[in-house]
Amino acid sequence: MMENSFDEQYRYFDENFAVIRQEIAEAALKSGRNPDEVSLLAATKTVPVQVINYAISQGLTCIGENRVQELLDKYELLQLGSCDCQFIGQLQTNKVKYLVGKVSCIQSLDSMKLAEEISRQANRAGLMINTLVEVNIGREENKGGVLPEELFDFVSEAAALPGLQINGLMAIPPICEKSTELYAYFSSMHQYYVDIRAKKIDNVNMNCLSMGMSSDYKEAIACGATMVRIGSSLFGKRKLR
Ligand SMILES: *Cc1c(COP(=O)(O)O)cnc(C)c1O
Repeated sequence: MMENSFDEQYRYFDENFAVIRQEIAEAALKSGRNPDEVSLLAATKTVPVQVINYAISQGLTCIGENRVQELLDKYELLQLGSCDCQFIGQLQTNKVKYLVGKVSCIQSLDSMKLAEEISRQANRAGLMINTLVEVNIGREENKGGVLPEELFDFVSEAAALPGLQINGLMAIPPICEKSTELYAYFSSMHQYYVDIRAKKIDNVNMNCLSMGMSSDYKEAIACGATMVRIGSSLFGKRKLR
């Protein structure tokens, strides 16, 4: 049977889903936070639809895909039910239209050009589109994201566009040798999040701080993450595409 090839991934998920949720809760408690403040997004790139649907049946409530084509290939087969589906990868402006009505949030808003296209598509569809602003917190050339010094102006300018709502910030920090470096990146993200919230800008709600992946979600939670995005610790190591 076809399904046998997925057995290992089902088993991996079964063994790790409860563990990861438990560790998220413990990390929150350890830093004096309420575990309910931290949600889990499963990063499902390369994970077959059958396995994702199984994970949803076991209680997974949020998934994130990072390639438009892969999302579209999977979308009709996903049994999302009440599971939230978000977009977490770099997004080209000409592909925004394919996401409208499919994802509840675009976490990778990183340019005015993209903001304008999201606004245009939102208005065409008569919807509000939720976004997070991605911050290039490590100022890395090969990564997307708004540079920290441009963040405040960017948020104000993008939020003024009709049809677009900014719900928070997202970041993928550089690989760090020392945990102190990692804490510094996550802490400055949290500070931006707090500072932007204090400005009370129209159409800006800082209620999601999306940071932390399999290797660093505990540190991210200690610094205030409200959403962690976890792939390989839930589904096993990804094969190269
Ligand atoms: C793949 C991915 C993740 C999860 O990475 P893991 O290290 O497998 O947990 C998180 N965020 C984004 C944007 C991703 O593309």
